[in-house]
Amino acid sequence: MLEQPLRTAGLGGAMAAWRTAIGAAHVRDEAELLETAAATTFATDNPPLAIISPADTAGVSACVKVAARFGVPLYPISRGKNWGLGGRVPSGGPAALLDLSRMDGILDYDATLGTLTLEPGVTFRQVYEFLTRQSSPFWLAPIGGSDYSSVMGNALERGEGIGPLGERSNHVAGLEVVTADGEIIRTGFSRFDGARTAALSRNGVGPSLDGLFAQSNLGVVTRMSVWLGKQPVHQTRFRCRFASPAALAKGLDALRELHHQRVLTDCGFTVWNLYKYLALQGRYPWARTGGATPFRLVARGEPEPSFCGGHLHAGSEAIGAASREALELALAPHCDDLKFEVIDAAMRVADPSLDCAFPNPVNLRTAYWRMRDVAAGPDPERDRCGIVWLCPAFPFDGAVVAAAMQKLAEIGFAHKLEAHVGLSAMSPRLTHAYVSLMYDRTVAGEDERAMACHDAMLEWLMEQGLPPYRLGIHSMRVLGTRDGPFERLLRGLRSHLDPQGILAPGRYVD
Ligand SMILES: Cc1cc2nc3c(=O)[nH]c(=O)nc-3n(C[C@H](O)[C@H](O)[C@H](O)COP(=O)(O)OP(=O)(O)OC[C@H]3O[C@@H](n4cnc5c(N)ncnc54)[C@H](O)[C@@H]3O)c2cc1C
Repeated sequence: MLEQPLRTAGLGGAMAAWRTAIGAAHVRDEAELLETAAATTFATDNPPLAIISPADTAGVSACVKVAARFGVPLYPISRGKNWGLGGRVPSGGPAALLDLSRMDGILDYDATLGTLTLEPGVTFRQVYEFLTRQSSPFWLAPIGGSDYSSVMGNALERGEGIGPLGERSNHVAGLEVVTADGEIIRTGFSRFDGARTAALSRNGVGPSLDGLFAQSNLGVVTRMSVWLGKQPVHQTRFRCRFASPAALAKGLDALRELHHQRVLTDCGFTVWNLYKYLALQGRYPWARTGGATPFRLVARGEPEPSFCGGHLHAGSEAIGAASREALELALAPHCDDLKFEVIDAAMRVADPSLDCAFPNPVNLRTAYWRMRDVAAGPDPERDRCGIVWLCPAFPFDGAVVAAAMQKLAEIGFAHKLEAHVGLSAMSPRLTHAYVSLMYDRTVAGEDERAMACHDAMLEWLMEQGLPPYRLGIHSMRVLGTRDGPFERLLRGLRSHLDPQGILAPGRYVD
């Protein structure tokens, strides 16, 4: 790997060569621009060297070759809305941003089999509007983050959406990848020119490479096919409340069994703790607490319930009614306020937010929980909202999950923060949780406090044998000191594909 000084020594030459390759207008290094890109939702100290924005795969390949020639690392982003995990800030050492947002084409849509082939810059909103224009019977599971996030960036981070096929990285195929030498490879069946199955299989024939490029720095992905979920014939929304951790544990076990029976689908429901729920409803009760933090209801003798919401998707009204009955039977003994609502087509037209596919940015409000004077907007990064994310995976065992949620909340309170904890099920075996520490970056000391809290949570999780399923630039270090056979194999692949360490140094693979 290159030494640090060499990584910036070639910058002048690289800038000139990038300008020749893709046009001067798309190679920028104005201080103001770099400063904005360097600021995310927590404190960082690694501003990008420049922002390079190619228009197509050939441009990406040319930029990567220039980077290798001059020894200047590149950090690819698709839309750069990775809020809570690092935004657009490179994960390790100096790097120029390879901003792929100009590549925003929806290249193919299979209206029979339900696939979309797209470029990195395509956003959730763009897909929703495209499918709506097509009167498509398919949908793409949306996320709780910005509707202007990249579908591809989300998939490559192994992010999860809400609803069927929500565990996105398991439902994509046919990747086109530019490796560090500028070579363009295609995975699965897409390696065969004209393969009619290119978008349909993750494996193709022979060893499957797709997984190498998710949560990785082994290549820049420039094209991907995404599988769409088919809208159900019958859809029922449900929600309920678990009064205590003990009730939550039992309720989760009931949800797992419903999942095993296929009454519920992967990513078919979410569970939120009280503080995540409160942050969606409003702001921190500064007046009620007299300005003190944290806000802890149980310390005031009040209950701290958690909340569950989800959808039953069925192929007919009769199956929908049977699923509802099964859910009611299993869940009602453990929860209160269990409510069902059938969502029909007319209701979805009247209120598009009822549509499971609607990329609803309302959840971004939670990022403004501790902000006193700023109106909630679409860009918490710009508004100096503090967001630090931690993403633990838990076995789908009610007692384990409820105890972990409680412990994470305790660690949060000890750091004067209310941990916002949510989770959804990837299968009847595994849940993915997302812990958000929301604070006000304009308050002195809060950046440090939130990161100390994150670190304490991460340490506790590792001690418990519960490593995270997704990392931010602030948590990559959890992998850094490991040197087992797994890590050595990965490093071997990296040194074969990218001997100079040009692509996203420090991102998942050393
Ligand atoms: C309130 C809130 C709610 C959220 N809810 C969710 C949620 O429900 N589900 C969820 O998953 N996330 C959620 N997030 C986190 C985050 O906003 C999303 O994951 C978002 O999709 C990431 O941004 P992006 O799609 O623009 O990806 P990018 O920022 O473009 O990409 C993410 C990372 O992937 C890598 N990468 C991107 N593109 C490429 C490429 N083409 N080739 C190689 N590497 C690449 C880069 O390292 C990049 O930093 C939430 C965040 C907040 C603040």
